[in-house]
Amino acid sequence: MSKTQTYDARMGSNITDVDDNIVACRGGRHKWPELVPGKPLPRKFRPTLEPGGVVLITEYCARCDKERYTLTLSGGIFDRGAIRRYKDPKNWVVVPGASPRDFQAEIYRRLHEEIMAAAKRAEVGGE
Ligand SMILES: [Zn+2]
Repeated sequence: MSKTQTYDARMGSNITDVDDNIVACRGGRHKWPELVPGKPLPRKFRPTLEPGGVVLITEYCARCDKERYTLTLSGGIFDRGAIRRYKDPKNWVVVPGASPRDFQAEIYRRLHEEIMAAAKRAEVGGE
């Protein structure tokens, strides 16, 4: 049994079964739409007017498709204290106890050959 399998058993679930895109998001950060004044609203940023004049913002992660919902104050004013809700994509896997560092370790494990090849090309005396 490899070290990775032992580690996964300790986690109580199989981090190795998590989709590549989801591993990337959970080990780093989601790719939420970027709002840039002067540019059009991104396609995956969808505001809808709700009763009371508040605006429900629905956003989608460009990598894993996680959904994020945010309510504005009345009139569409950004609410600094807003509590966001999330909806996981269909292929989301719960890995009990797994931290972002655990997912970073999984990213490194999956990219091991590429990381080591690049490191060897850049080793002292190389490029
Ligand atoms: Zn994501």
